[in-house]
Amino acid sequence: MMDYEVIGKPSAQYEGLTPNLSDYESAREGFDWYRDAFPELDWLPGGGLNNAYEAIDRHVHHGYGDKSAMIWAGKNGEEETYTYAEMKELSDRFGSVMNGLGIQRGDRVFIFMDRLPELYVAALGVLKAGGVIGPLFSAFGPDPVLDRMQDAGARFLITTPELRNKIESILSKVETLEKVIVVNKGGRYREPLAKGDLDYYELMSVASSEGFQIAGTGQYDYSIMHYTSGSTGKPKGVLHRHQAVVQQYMTGKWCLDLNFDDVYFCTADPGWVTGTSYGMMAPWTNGVTNVIYEGGFGANAYYDVIDRYKVTVWYTAPTAIRLLMRAGAGPVASHDLSSLRFIASVGEPLNPEAVVWGNEHYKMPIHDNWWQTETGAIMCSNYASMEVRAGSMGRPIPGVEMAVLDEDYNPKPAGEAGILALRPGWPSMMHAYWGQDEMYSSRFRKGWYITGDQASLDEDGYFWFQGRADDVINTAGHLVGPFEVESALIEHPAVAEAGVIGKPDPIAMEVVKAFVTLNPDYEWSTALRRELMQFSRQKLAAGVAPREIDVVDVMPKTRSGKIMRRLLKARELGLPEGDTSTLEDD
Ligand code: AMP
Repeated sequence: MMDYEVIGKPSAQYEGLTPNLSDYESAREGFDWYRDAFPELDWLPGGGLNNAYEAIDRHVHHGYGDKSAMIWAGKNGEEETYTYAEMKELSDRFGSVMNGLGIQRGDRVFIFMDRLPELYVAALGVLKAGGVIGPLFSAFGPDPVLDRMQDAGARFLITTPELRNKIESILSKVETLEKVIVVNKGGRYREPLAKGDLDYYELMSVASSEGFQIAGTGQYDYSIMHYTSGSTGKPKGVLHRHQAVVQQYMTGKWCLDLNFDDVYFCTADPGWVTGTSYGMMAPWTNGVTNVIYEGGFGANAYYDVIDRYKVTVWYTAPTAIRLLMRAGAGPVASHDLSSLRFIASVGEPLNPEAVVWGNEHYKMPIHDNWWQTETGAIMCSNYASMEVRAGSMGRPIPGVEMAVLDEDYNPKPAGEAGILALRPGWPSMMHAYWGQDEMYSSRFRKGWYITGDQASLDEDGYFWFQGRADDVINTAGHLVGPFEVESALIEHPAVAEAGVIGKPDPIAMEVVKAFVTLNPDYEWSTALRRELMQFSRQKLAAGVAPREIDVVDVMPKTRSGKIMRRLLKARELGLPEGDTSTLEDD
């Protein structure tokens, strides 16, 4: 932990620009979220708070309607630009569509879409109409979509024709679902829409933004739910409130160093929390131009986006950075990346080599940040003005108290690893796991929110990530609950039991590995392994489905029948299995 490289501020692009949060100590002192954020943010004209208003309308009211809010780069080379005024008009219009469909305050509206401009317009429109958005990762197969929509009691779904076809089999099982709105972008899909579905463009063409009023949401109204995985049970719906925007705005400024003239590129998908908190809310509340790239990862593709749109601030993930390192210096040299002045990452530990590599090749450090779906916004950061300690996740932002605790939930001294915890009360803190109050309460102990991570703290207040305290797998920055994968596998007739672990991987940090026992009459073979891989990929998603599957004769279990994943992992890694009697009743 103490063996690290310190990287200063080599970026020439900083010259003449004072990084945000340049006086960390005095910013922390007596910090007050509302007092300090609100000279710049606005309450709704009627006194409430709505995060879509903060992100978009506020800038139009302040005279910046003509500024570019979103540049969309489509996967087929399309390009569309939207000003803040256009985003306001379109999202008002979609809000009006939702009002026409009878949306009620707090209704859950799921969005299952690729990164199209209509996704962002629809999300903002639903928020303005008082609904709660539930964005879903478009790579999901039918099972994760069904689990989430059923659990949340989704009333509306917004999707594309192709994705609708993918989940056709589950739609009738979501009993609360009333309407499916379909976006056939650019007529990409040639068949007529399914009977009963509503055409997004038709709805928009007859709706009007004229006279549309933002629902009078308050800071405590729910705005968004993202599902996250735990080590037991299916993923839980994490609920955030409109007030999360206060922290998303401040961290956009402090940790991503967003200034009004920035052109910003966040590679995260809105199906995950980074893609909404930092793909929508932080950039737009800070009034920057947000570049949305529809395509997937590619070294040349990412560098093209930066080069073409003269991106100044880039937010990405460690797995992407490791892939960029693998792609090497060639693609860096063949692009003009001189517009870049700040790079940040989140979601997994950013290895020190990556920070050092970034410093060499991009001529600036990559700034690691730590946070979770539950925290709603960055909590700990290598913020713009600080020296980066390669391998550390930085220091807590103003307004956040973070600690390392022992097993009795008392703070530990610097240098010792323990439970990473936060003092509740920050604005973007989750307010509930949907319908799971007991699970929610279990995350709080002795006045602390328990993150589920292990970390240590050094003498200077820098935090160092050590690992997860549970069985949750972090693959390419996405959390995967082993239970969800196990449940999918045992639906195959050949599988009797399944145990799922995270296996270390040099690029994705961990990959999902499954062990199965077979039902009588089935024999293990390469063909069966392939079939199980395909089966789980169809049900889940490529990133969530196991990358490796092996058979075991006996599944190790506790006396109460729980699968001992830790033992499976120890065996896989050739580590000592330890005293298994202590694991027995885990
Ligand atoms: P999610 O809720 O999907 O955003 O995942 C949150 C989890 O990802 C955290 O609890 C950590 O285990 C991991 N994580 C997020 N950011 C970092 C980071 N900077 N360093 C190490 N792990 C991280």
